[in-house]
Formats: sequence, structure tokens, C-alpha cells
Amino acid sequence: MSKVPSLTLNNGIEMPQLGFGVWQVPDDEATRAVATALEAGYRSIDTASLYANEEGTGRALAASGIPREELFVTTKLGNGDQGYDATLRAFDASLSRLGLDHVDLYLIHWPLPAKDLYVDTYKAFEKILADGRARAIGVSNFLPEHLERLAGETSVVPAVNQIELHPQFQQAASRAYHTEHSIVTEAWSPLGQGKGLLEVPTVVAIARKHERTPAQVVLRWHLQTGHVAIPKSVTPSRIRENFDVFGFELDGDDLAAFAALDEGRRLGGDPAKVNG
Ligand code: NAD
Repeated sequence: MSKVPSLTLNNGIEMPQLGFGVWQVPDDEATRAVATALEAGYRSIDTASLYANEEGTGRALAASGIPREELFVTTKLGNGDQGYDATLRAFDASLSRLGLDHVDLYLIHWPLPAKDLYVDTYKAFEKILADGRARAIGVSNFLPEHLERLAGETSVVPAVNQIELHPQFQQAASRAYHTEHSIVTEAWSPLGQGKGLLEVPTVVAIARKHERTPAQVVLRWHLQTGHVAIPKSVTPSRIRENFDVFGFELDGDDLAAFAALDEGRRLGGDPAKVNG
């Protein structure tokens, strides 16, 4: 099962480049979906306090019998829990729901700039890291301006920034900032939420050329572009399909065609404006 390449985070921790996301999956269904994903070979799971499925996710992790050190578990701090003390309490609650004594990656879910709490929140993350209860800490939906502020007021460079990223929203400026500062880019909604992206003629044509599915060539684009992707599905055949992306490679023409698909249009919220 070691065919998933990993990326080395800026503190030396290895993170699988392909993981499994569970946003919008109810708690009991998350147990089934995560179990299917683990059987298919995924070892990295992305959940969040906001998803209300940490317990279901944790049940599948425990039932799998997979040694803890082979798993990479990410969860995120809920938006209502920012602030130093609230973060420490919320982290304890997440660990207990997951049934774990540490996570591999803990992320601030959104910067919520109008609340102006993300610096204090991140200082609590630094304590959690120092206490060995997260192997790496990072952020999600942070714009370069938010990362700059962290750089000025905190000590640990975030290992990861998890942002909306797919061929129609390629986020060149954020990716360049991350590369310059040794922050791994992690793509949320990597399949564009399964909406129009998978029917775009260029994507369909590249899929036909490789005798693969549109979802598989999009995931290949993520892997070859050098970031982490965490596709979600609750359908067992799709969960397996999305993992079966290591037996082929996109060529230069394919990558150029993907580059031309960027529309700069978000599916999700704008981090400058989301505040609750
Ligand atoms: P996604 O891009 O992974 O798309 C998922 C949808 O695509 C599925 O619900 C299904 O409709 C479709 N799909 C999946 N596999 C398919 C296949 N093989 N063929 C055809 N259609 C397929 O979208 P997502 O769930 O929004 O994002 C993935 C993960 O990213 C989430 O589960 C979550 O873990 C994370 N996420 C994080 C944030 C954040 O703010 N940090 C926000 C959104 C999502």
C-alpha cells in the first residue's frame, strides 16, 4: 500500500499526497466511507470539528486495525472555537471524539479576519505541537496576507495551507507564496465538487486519451502539480476509482491543457469575507 507518494512537510513529517475527505458525510455514513477508503488503500483522512463526523471517522480508524503510525489523520478547529483557551479546549474535544491521543495535522479551518483571533489561536496550536499532541500544525483558507501576519507574530511556519484548488481555480498567487515559504499546498474540493469540471471537454478528452475517468485525470493533475489532494465520495466504486491514479502519467500537452482551464472562480467562500 506504499504506492501513494508523500510530501515532506517543513518539520520533516511525511504526508501522503492523496487523502480522503469527509465533508458533508453524516457521522454514521463516515464510518462506512472511511472504512471503505482504508480498505482501498487510503491512509490519510481529512475531517473537521465542523463536519460533525469525528466520532464516526474515529470508529472506522479503530476498527481497521491499521497501526496508528501508518495513518495520517487531519482535523480542523471549528470557527466558533478560535482564541487561545477555547482552542485548547476544542482540541481536547476533537481528540476525544476521534478516540486518538494525537493527530498528524491540526488546521485552523478559516482565518475569520474580522474576528481577529487567528494569531492567538495559532499560538495555542504552537503549544499543541510542542506538547506532541499534533505532529504538524497548519491553516486552511489563509490568504498570503494572513500568512504574512502569522510570520510576523508567531514562531512556527504552518506546515500546510489547505485551500480551494482545482483546475478551474488554480490559485497561482497562493501556491507561489507557499512554495517560497516551505508551506505545502493542500487542495480542497480537488474535483471541483464533481460539478461542471468533470464534464469539461478538455478534461473528458484527456481522460479518453489515457483510458481513465475525468476524476482520475484531474487527480493526476493535482499529484503532478505537487500538492496534496483529498477527494471525497461515499460511493465505494468512486472511492476506489479516485485512489487508482498511480498507474499512468499526464504528459506536457495534458498539463498545458489543464493550465488553460483556470477561470479564477471560487466554488466556496472567499476567505477575506467569511467571518463565522
Ligand atoms: P470534491 O472536489 O472532492 O468532490 C466531491 C464530489 O465529487 C462528490 O460528492 C461526488 O459528487 C463527486 N465525485 C467524487 N468522486 C467522483 C468520481 N470518481 N466521479 C464522478 N464524481 C465524483 O469536493 P469536496 O468534498 O468539497 O472536497 C473534498 C474534501 O476537501 C472535503 O471532503 C473536505 O475534507 C475538504 N474540504 C475542506 C474545506 C475547507 O474549508 N478546508 C472546504 C471544502 C472541502
